[in-house]
Amino acid sequence: MPKPAPAIEEHDRGFWEAANQRRLVVQNCTACMRLQMPPAPSCAACGSTHHLEWKEVRGRGRIEGYCVQHDTRVAALKAEQPFNTAVVELAEHPEIKFFSHLPGVPPAKVPVGAEVELVFQEVEPGQLIPEWQLVR
Ligand SMILES: [Zn+2]
Repeated sequence: MPKPAPAIEEHDRGFWEAANQRRLVVQNCTACMRLQMPPAPSCAACGSTHHLEWKEVRGRGRIEGYCVQHDTRVAALKAEQPFNTAVVELAEHPEIKFFSHLPGVPPAKVPVGAEVELVFQEVEPGQLIPEWQLVR
């Protein structure tokens, strides 16, 4: 399904630049050795703004749960309703979660617990975004 292009801000520019290189990165606070997603201007645990770096992670995960959206507020997605919004936890760092529409999975037919792998979708010329699909 088509998705809106990201509104890139200074604190998440590195995330989107990595996506364009087909790499998945999360923020890593080197002051308290904690990973953070989504990216933020400061560490949610210690407040540091100067110890945030990008750490590349592997594109494997597991579906933790999901909901089905019937009345989204995102205008660009209304034509696709109803659609899945799944929570994916990273295999190597389960505390790090991503949202996914699970392309190819019918609404409400989400296999909770199943393994997923990272793919990239082009949402506008020159901008890739991470997405997740079932491991076949
Ligand atoms: Zn920190």
